[in-house]
Amino acid sequence: MLLHFIFLLTEDEKSQHCDDYIYIKKMAEFYQFWIKKNFAIDVEINCDILITKKNIIQRLDIPLLMKDHFNRSEQIYHFYLCYFKPIWTDCSCDGYHAENFGMVWWQHAKDNQHDPQLAHKNCAVVSHELSHELLRQQKNKHYIDIVHQIWSQHFLGDLEFQQYDENFCITKKNPKFLTIDTTKFI
Ligand SMILES: [Zn+2]
Repeated sequence: MLLHFIFLLTEDEKSQHCDDYIYIKKMAEFYQFWIKKNFAIDVEINCDILITKKNIIQRLDIPLLMKDHFNRSEQIYHFYLCYFKPIWTDCSCDGYHAENFGMVWWQHAKDNQHDPQLAHKNCAVVSHELSHELLRQQKNKHYIDIVHQIWSQHFLGDLEFQQYDENFCITKKNPKFLTIDTTKFI
């Protein structure tokens, strides 16, 4: 399987957010490792940037992203990191999933707190949407409910996100990547 992360930027933003893209490329490598570890699936990864133009007739949202996904190839798992929230989603986060398709609202980091902010605001949400799709591919009938139950424990209970360092090892401090607690999938 090929997992292709696509980082969306507006024309106004294209000279900015280089640090975000450096993080995204490292995060893609991390998820290659994480998917093998937790789902026993081998994935190839790819990353690129998509510069979007303002469209005054149609707001960029899930239908246009789905169209882009099908135009590229529905055999490839496309994962869009977007500067906007989905207008509608059945997820308990700012993301959306479908077969071989994912999107999240990617929040840009501010100041010099770069990696910690990106890990907390974005990386964990990516793991939410990846988990839906990977559990679905494993024929888990509860691929929606399981993720949402664990997700609410992260936010409403005292369950901590899993924390990984830059070498993809579990860590207790200064994590570079945060994910949903996959030990609860069983
Ligand atoms: Zn969800």
